[in-house]
Amino acid sequence: MSLTNGGSTTAVKRKATTSPGPSKKPKSAPSRFDHSRKEEEYIVDREFYPPQMSNERCAMYKNNELERPIETLEKAQKETKAWRDKLPVKDAVIHWFKSDLRLADNKALHLASEKAKSKNVPLICLYVVSPQDFKAHARSPVRVDFMLRSLQVLKEDLDEFDIPLVILIEEKRKNIPNLILERCQQWGASHLFTNIEYEVDELRREALLTRKGVESAVAVDTVHDTCVIQPGLLSSGSGSQYSVYSPWFRAWLSYLHTHSYHLKLYDEPKNNPSITREKFKELFNWPIPDAPDNKRLTDQERKRFESMWPAGEHEARDRVCKFVNERIKTYKETRNFPAANATAVVSVHLAAGTLSARTAIAMAQESNTTKKLDGGISGIAGWISEVAWRDFYRHVLVHWPYVCMNKPFKPEFSGIQWEYENRMFEKWSHGVTGYPFIDAAMRQLNFSGYMHNRARMGVASFLAKDLMIDWRMGEKYFMLHLIDGDFASNNGGWGFSASTGVDPQPYFRIFNPILQSEKFDPDGEYIRRWVPELAHVQGKAIHDPHGRGAKGILAYPKMCVDHKTSRNRALARYKAGLGRDNA
Ligand code: FAD
Repeated sequence: MSLTNGGSTTAVKRKATTSPGPSKKPKSAPSRFDHSRKEEEYIVDREFYPPQMSNERCAMYKNNELERPIETLEKAQKETKAWRDKLPVKDAVIHWFKSDLRLADNKALHLASEKAKSKNVPLICLYVVSPQDFKAHARSPVRVDFMLRSLQVLKEDLDEFDIPLVILIEEKRKNIPNLILERCQQWGASHLFTNIEYEVDELRREALLTRKGVESAVAVDTVHDTCVIQPGLLSSGSGSQYSVYSPWFRAWLSYLHTHSYHLKLYDEPKNNPSITREKFKELFNWPIPDAPDNKRLTDQERKRFESMWPAGEHEARDRVCKFVNERIKTYKETRNFPAANATAVVSVHLAAGTLSARTAIAMAQESNTTKKLDGGISGIAGWISEVAWRDFYRHVLVHWPYVCMNKPFKPEFSGIQWEYENRMFEKWSHGVTGYPFIDAAMRQLNFSGYMHNRARMGVASFLAKDLMIDWRMGEKYFMLHLIDGDFASNNGGWGFSASTGVDPQPYFRIFNPILQSEKFDPDGEYIRRWVPELAHVQGKAIHDPHGRGAKGILAYPKMCVDHKTSRNRALARYKAGLGRDNA
């Protein structure tokens, strides 16, 4: 397995006419994209980002006429590789933690440890907190809190290996590369390793860091770790990236069956040399900071989330272990019922990186009757196929980076007329729409930072289609409240539900929130758990209490929209939007 990304697995043939880098303007005709639209005000965060991208520019990404951020990073890694390979190890090696907060099966950490061992110098670990980054990425306070608690566990674990963990705070996100390189120089570190995050800002930042590293005599190695199969390795017979899950998943399976080393787990780092504690004494007492002001929970919330969501990698493995021993076998039949507690509830760990996707799959596979990932016990194969969705959405993000720039995967859906200034968004977000299944789900999210997958699909469809509210407002609300908020999976899930994403389901498939409730919460257990005003309602009335004459429910609101009328409005708006001149 190669150390770096120099092999350029994602490189594609460019059209001969254009080859601009990311900073260059496309050579096409001036954009006619209407920037006075509400999207500019409500969706694009202009504190950090340029105006909404035109559909023409999206087309240029699709046609391989613009350099993708992953290619910018690959180029930086490739062009500096020879220099980096020759650079001698100095006084220390650094591992920069991001969303990989674990010792076990962490590729960049493992490689950093090997490099340090090769010259018997100390390994120093680093994490950077940037309040501005949290704001730009709509990071939820509950996720920040989970990350800080996981850092505490990590620090204690690293301490046993005599490895210090330093947490730097940098208000301005653009200063992060310089800050890191300054610290490398201060500690005499010649090599820095880090796992790749696939969002656009992060890829571009790491490309810059790689090049600036050369000026500062620091070799920066960025490696693929978070996906089981790195983005760019799977392509269809015609050489193009898959945009539909099923054929992509067949390719994913077949590739892993023939390249099983992708499931190999990386060893924990080795002990630091004994001089480390003396040489870098001050680094061992580095405190874990409080959450920044812009992401602080109340004391009451902190206590609640701490007991609901114990942090760190040991807890992650315990959770998978319990799930595999107790529930995985029936996963396929039960996973769609939010009241059943049938899923693993490990997304928080996969998002924070306290668990690797490889480890999750390896633990499930060990309990199966076959090595085949799609064979043996159907619950196990089914669960592995769900973990694969996480890879899939990252592959999509890397190949179509404009999904990370507020654009729908299908840019032609930019023309739909959405609602914005709308009391309905408040009703939806507070869980008072009058649709019990929707309200139960939103209250679960607001209280616990988590929501069951079936419920996520339900509330997302309701927001986009019944309320016609721009799905990107829901996407952002999720990021601001989920403990497992993960750009690629969240964006993929919202695209699926609003029919603007990779899924081939046509827009006229619209969930009926009452039928969904009857199907996936037949006894109303989930609703009763989260909507106390309805706890006493018996039988089928729980799904539509006002419509079905339930008694004693004055405290519960009437339905905020009529589904049939909303459905017709959605059909008309989608149809008109697709025909609208939105170039
Ligand atoms: P399990 O059913 O036990 O599955 C195991 C793991 O597989 C999950 O932890 C997750 O990492 C992965 N997985 C399962 N289903 C999906 C899926 N549809 N897409 C991507 N990965 C999947 N997941 C996130 O991790 N972060 C998000 O921000 C997020 N936002 C979503 C938004 C919407 C609108 C929708 C429809 C789905 C979203 N998902 C997101 C996917 C999914 O809902 C969660 O991963 C799942 O509910 C987590 O619960 P679990 O760990 O018990 O999952």
